[in-house]
Amino acid sequence: MKITIIAGARPNFIKIAPIINAIKRKQNEGFDVSFRLVHTGQHYDKNLSDTFFEELNIPKPSVNLEVKSGSQAEQTAAIMIAFEKELIQNPCDLVLVVGDVNSTMACSIVAKKCNTKVAHVEAGIRSGDLTMPEEINRMLTDSITDYFFTTSTSASENLLKLGSDPENIHFVGNVMIDTLYQNINRISAPDFWKEHLLNEKNYIILTLHRPGNVDEVSSLLELLHGIDNLVTDKKILFPIHPRTQAILSESDIKFKNIIFVAPQGYLNFMYLIKNSFAVITDSGGISEETTVMGIPCFTMRNNTERPETETIGSNTIVGTSLENLQKIFGMFLKNGPRKSGIPELWDGKASERIISILLDKK
Ligand code: UDP
Repeated sequence: MKITIIAGARPNFIKIAPIINAIKRKQNEGFDVSFRLVHTGQHYDKNLSDTFFEELNIPKPSVNLEVKSGSQAEQTAAIMIAFEKELIQNPCDLVLVVGDVNSTMACSIVAKKCNTKVAHVEAGIRSGDLTMPEEINRMLTDSITDYFFTTSTSASENLLKLGSDPENIHFVGNVMIDTLYQNINRISAPDFWKEHLLNEKNYIILTLHRPGNVDEVSSLLELLHGIDNLVTDKKILFPIHPRTQAILSESDIKFKNIIFVAPQGYLNFMYLIKNSFAVITDSGGISEETTVMGIPCFTMRNNTERPETETIGSNTIVGTSLENLQKIFGMFLKNGPRKSGIPELWDGKASERIISILLDKK
């Protein structure tokens, strides 16, 4: 079986690493399976791309389509044009896409139109929020996917409600958590750990990059000033996404507690999360990692496509207003964290299950 694996953006790199490891293990066991890795070039900063390839031992991509930035339509179109050429030159049995970025949707459409089967890892999750480009990518990708690999029973149920063939919906667990388990013994403190006097539980991690939170500079500054005053005895470490950095670059900003640092590599970032007091974020992936590490997470969004992180107790959906965050975080400071646990099948073996199922389909 020849599989073309698509990756375009930071969360994709983290998700494909264990899938590639699982393919290599099957090759060693004598299975007839090979892969071609296509990097669409959606993320191209060293901090958001190369670092992850190096740290997670992801092989050099077979090709980089180098689409770079653009509007939603420009980027999607550029990926489709470049990937169609690539797929015609290098046909395969299956195109495997992960997550919900523009590359996920664009390459699925191209694959289907070239009569190639599509496997979607992290299929079926839904926030119901069509103002997020990711939700549209999820819906369109799942509408033409052949093999669905889900992280939760609720994602599988979403697909069943949409009429997807139950034979092709496989609840396998979470590949992002495979990466976490495969690397947890390699995580390490970043160089600035001592310089900023960081210690276990004396800081909060903050990440914000969703358009709704960061695109309006005055409301972003108001939110950041509010977060700066949430606690008196802790630092707030903000690995700032290039998108957020670009928006803040004109502003003259001074904070008491917030420390701005560059986007972190995976091994440093997991160390920072694991040792943090709490996390405030608008990332979906981070709410999964905090769930497994038992770190209280406060999500600055009105919804989540990962409801299991909330029902199990580690993630709290705050909404996007500072007032809500102050209220909810204040309750957490007073009462302590909610009881939490680890969702079903988030056991580090999802990638193994995915490749075994795909090889059985042949
Ligand atoms: N991440 C990282 N360094 C950072 C910020 C995030 O390694 O400075 C990782 C994070 O742990 C998670 C992934 O990147 O695994 C999430 O990426 P992002 O927030 O860009 O995507 P989302 O989850 O919102 O789709």
